[in-house]
Amino acid sequence: MQTSTEPAALDEARAAEVAAALAEAGPAADPVGPVTPAEHAARRTRCAALLAAAGLDALVVEPGATQRYLSGVDASLSERLTALVVLADGSCFWLVPGFEVERVRGSAGDVEVLGWQEHEYAFAPLASALRRRRAERVAVEPALRAFQLAGLALALGQETLPLATGLLRDLRGCKDEHELALLRSASERTQRALLAVSRLLRPGLTALEIGALLRHAHRLQGMSGHWDLVLFGADAAEPHGSTGPRRLERGDLVLVDTGAALHGYQSDTTRTWVFDGAPSERVAQVWHAVHDAQRRAFEALAPGRRAREADAAARAVFAAAGFGGAYELFTHRVGHGIGMEGHEAPYLDGGSEVFLAPGMVFTDEPGLYVRGELGVRIEDVVAITAGGATHFGQWQAAPTSPAG
Ligand code: ZN
Ligand code: ZN
Repeated sequence: MQTSTEPAALDEARAAEVAAALAEAGPAADPVGPVTPAEHAARRTRCAALLAAAGLDALVVEPGATQRYLSGVDASLSERLTALVVLADGSCFWLVPGFEVERVRGSAGDVEVLGWQEHEYAFAPLASALRRRRAERVAVEPALRAFQLAGLALALGQETLPLATGLLRDLRGCKDEHELALLRSASERTQRALLAVSRLLRPGLTALEIGALLRHAHRLQGMSGHWDLVLFGADAAEPHGSTGPRRLERGDLVLVDTGAALHGYQSDTTRTWVFDGAPSERVAQVWHAVHDAQRRAFEALAPGRRAREADAAARAVFAAAGFGGAYELFTHRVGHGIGMEGHEAPYLDGGSEVFLAPGMVFTDEPGLYVRGELGVRIEDVVAITAGGATHFGQWQAAPTSPAG
């Protein structure tokens, strides 16, 4: 789960408190460097091999996570087409607005950069660049916008172009060692931020103020793109509940779902705990059911098993505990893929026939939501290994603190 909010600015005294709380919350995570140009080149080679295996000649990719994954170039998405094209023969090229050619060349390494002029609307130059390279079976990424797809299909004289959905899932779905290290470290940093900020909670704070503390705790650990969802009491009964003007009170059940990116790789962690008080019997019962469901889902993760088994495992726990085994109170899937995007394929939902494979990374995030009363979600990031699955950071241990 994730949403974006704009936390309030932090004054110097509060910023210093966050730094001190972080130091108390545990040692800084080991540094992990960004993905290198050589790694991006190797990804393009792997993409080319997948294209060849699928009987395709080329893949057209717009600005976004897949383009960054393949190139490291963070181009902005606008009405003008900025395309990276990977060909099955291992070559590739950029086709960008003419006035952007030099700028893109500066970050494209040795990949050829072609330009199109404003009156050409990109598609005819792209079609002729593809024809020159004898690329006939051209696929596009599923995220390519419909007007770009329609324009390209027309220029190539085709009704439509195939979507490379499965190919991209194969390419990006299984993370390599460097990506796993980045994702693990991002999760550990977010858990440390959560623990630090939990120790700074005081009655009277608003969700926005808590968000600002979390943002600073992420920033101090070298992360960017912070987002958070902070909900008190019954506000958490909507999984994507909206942050109200309420102020934190002693004994409130607090749900914090937050994350940020480390060199472009995302974290996504949720903790639910009682602020400065003991959980009621009801809260303890709900929290422990969610905690058990999270563990059962984790135990259902192993290579060769279906993605949907994890969702079913969590629901079985809720059924046995009397909360219903369908979508009565657990209203969403148990998890989603995570990598360069906060939510990405494959997904851990009850309909997924995807077979799990080593290197796939998911959230494991069951929840129970009782409208007008409470919401509990616990979310961690896990990765499929050769023998089962591994967990990043520490599981939440009890409903009294986000700590492990
Ligand atoms: Zn989340
Ligand atoms: Zn999530």
